[in-house]
Amino acid sequence: MKTILLQGICYDEKSSFLKGASKAPPLIRDYLYSDSSNSFTETGLDIDSLDLKDMGDFVPADYFETERITSRHIRDGARLITLGGDHSITYPIIKAYNQVHGPFDLLQIDAHGDLYDEFEGDKYSHACPFARIMEGGHVSRLVQAGIRTMTTHQKEQAERFGVEVHEMKDYRLEALPEWPRPLYISLDMDCFDPAYAPGVSHHEPGGFTSRQVIELIHGLDAEIIGTDIVEYNPERDVQGITGALAAKMLKEIMGKMVG
Ligand code: MN
Ligand code: MN
Repeated sequence: MKTILLQGICYDEKSSFLKGASKAPPLIRDYLYSDSSNSFTETGLDIDSLDLKDMGDFVPADYFETERITSRHIRDGARLITLGGDHSITYPIIKAYNQVHGPFDLLQIDAHGDLYDEFEGDKYSHACPFARIMEGGHVSRLVQAGIRTMTTHQKEQAERFGVEVHEMKDYRLEALPEWPRPLYISLDMDCFDPAYAPGVSHHEPGGFTSRQVIELIHGLDAEIIGTDIVEYNPERDVQGITGALAAKMLKEIMGKMVG
């Protein structure tokens, strides 16, 4: 069974609208181990039996430190799950992955494309990480699912970078591609409809149900080398609904990663 590493990145300096995502990592862990549920995935795996190494939570001194933190943890080719933090952290994480792993694909599940060339004067805003990733040629392919905030600029960016966009309005699970290369999954909690995940900074109605994303994850036939779960904002949560969902997704993705 493959070892999985877990790291928390407590960082929301690049959030354009509301802060709060930096508080998420320890709370997602609390929900994961809460007595309100058990330790089994829906696919029948006991996560207490997994070889899981928790590296703890980190507060990066600046934006680029997340790359150095991640590099330390994956230098032996380990499979890593990162709890964010706002979505800006995915760029430094992918940069670190690019130095260790060979070519890999990236699946972004999100209400937003996050492809802005710059946002409010910041090229590293949480609205920009996938533009930076594609410019740098850090992944062999970017597939987006759940997008429902397309703009003219982001459409141009998607075309320029060859991003495969599965907008929410056209979404069909069967239309997602096959994954012949290793896969990294970036899960933005605002991909869910706000009814399922109110604890995010940007409420964008018309999103995924919890079940749709669980089905998407369970259906992946891929070697998953890394994941991040980002944009959970506990300050906006209602009765812990979003925290419990983030922990559930963490659990189900862990179950897929050891396979
Ligand atoms: Mn995002
Ligand atoms: Mn988003």
